[in-house]
Amino acid sequence: MHLSSFPLDDSLDLLVVSRSEAGDELRRRFRESHAFLVRGVLSKTTVVLDEDLLGEPWFTDAHLQTVLAHEYAHHLLGDAHGAGGREDEREADWLAHRILVRRGEMSAAELTEEMFTRRYHEAVADVDGEMLGKPHVRRVVTQFL
Ligand SMILES: [Zn+2]
Repeated sequence: MHLSSFPLDDSLDLLVVSRSEAGDELRRRFRESHAFLVRGVLSKTTVVLDEDLLGEPWFTDAHLQTVLAHEYAHHLLGDAHGAGGREDEREADWLAHRILVRRGEMSAAELTEEMFTRRYHEAVADVDGEMLGKPHVRRVVTQFL
């Protein structure tokens, strides 16, 4: 288990936990998702990341950036991760792409774009208008990106 500053924003923490040291609840969460956001439990909002994922041969740095940007998007959107449904995920995926482009993480941005299209059967760019038409999404883009 390793706690550090969250690379995209040091007002958050990153907690990396291996499945072998995780309890039942954490293992259950890792079955649903590689990472998730914990808010209001520890002193800082914390992104919890499955350490075993980092050792997977297919898991590249671009994948890591993609996962972190997605969780950061949830944070910026004020989502309680897990409580939201498909639309929260779609918004977080869209915003993650924007975050990555803004940070110049182009291979991760590309990966996010491919994943978005596969998941929602639409292109990221095609939903810009729709997303920016949502006040809570527009607020985040205007304020942070
Ligand atoms: Zn999510």
